[in-house]
Amino acid sequence: MKILVPIKRVVDYNVQVRPTDDGRQVELAGVKMSPNPFDENALEEALRLKEAGLATEIVAVTFGNSMNQDVLRHALAMGVDRAILVDVDKQPDSLGVAKLLKAIVKRETPQLVLMGKQAIDYDAGQTPQMLAGLLGWPQGTFVSKVEFKGEQVEVTREIDGGTETLKLQLPVVISVDLRLNSPRFVKLPNLMMAKKKPIETLSASELVPNCESKLKTLGISYPPSRKPAQMLTSVDELIGKLKNEAGVL
Ligand SMILES: Cc1cc2nc3c(=O)[nH]c(=O)nc-3n(C[C@H](O)[C@H](O)[C@H](O)COP(=O)(O)OP(=O)(O)OC[C@H]3O[C@@H](n4cnc5c(N)ncnc54)[C@H](O)[C@@H]3O)c2cc1C
Repeated sequence: MKILVPIKRVVDYNVQVRPTDDGRQVELAGVKMSPNPFDENALEEALRLKEAGLATEIVAVTFGNSMNQDVLRHALAMGVDRAILVDVDKQPDSLGVAKLLKAIVKRETPQLVLMGKQAIDYDAGQTPQMLAGLLGWPQGTFVSKVEFKGEQVEVTREIDGGTETLKLQLPVVISVDLRLNSPRFVKLPNLMMAKKKPIETLSASELVPNCESKLKTLGISYPPSRKPAQMLTSVDELIGKLKNEAGVL
């Protein structure tokens, strides 16, 4: 079984993001970037499937410019077999990424696309579903457990109020949750070795003409700030505040 793992380069989850001065973008200048955390879970699962003898090859792919090579080097250091950088002038929206991924799937013919359930920058959570729709493949989204049984895979996914277990026929798209596993630590020697590994570069416009974003960002701003919390000493004081200040009683 061949596995394709898409990796998005996002602002590191430890960074406090801020809008640019014109309020149109998130400030990226000088900001630490990392692989999307959910994509690391997808990578980890792919590697475990290979170690268990269920996968033969793992291919990582990212969409961006030459700066995106760092997330592919990270994937190579974790242990993927090959890495592909699809050169895009501007970041496509979810549908654009799904169309590009479909083109990569046609080229690479994996039986499984393992991807994060959402990217932590825009949190859209829709690329896996769109890809499965475009391919006409079954999909398991928000997956926290994966178990292969021959040509079928059983996935456990979170739904409102509990979990659901689905049996899917390969080929499939699976989008994963943080609960699935703990990604392995990447050792420095592996990172150094990954720097020497080849990265194949493809042109997005050759794969899918006109897949630019159809979305226009009008503005980016902080959420309204909340009033600071108050420490109260008694239930009577709480009731008084709810009645007289908040006006909810
Ligand atoms: C583990 C978990 C954590 C979550 N955390 C958050 C969170 O932190 N913040 C947050 O905002 N949300 C969160 N959600 C999502 C939230 O709980 C709802 O699932 C979500 O708001 C529903 O959106 P959807 O697009 O998935 O719904 P859909 O199922 O696509 O439904 C969207 C709308 O489509 C229509 N529709 C869908 N199916 C039908 C039908 N059969 N017939 C008629 N109309 C239909 C209805 O109008 C429905 O309201 C979480 C969900 C899960 C499972």
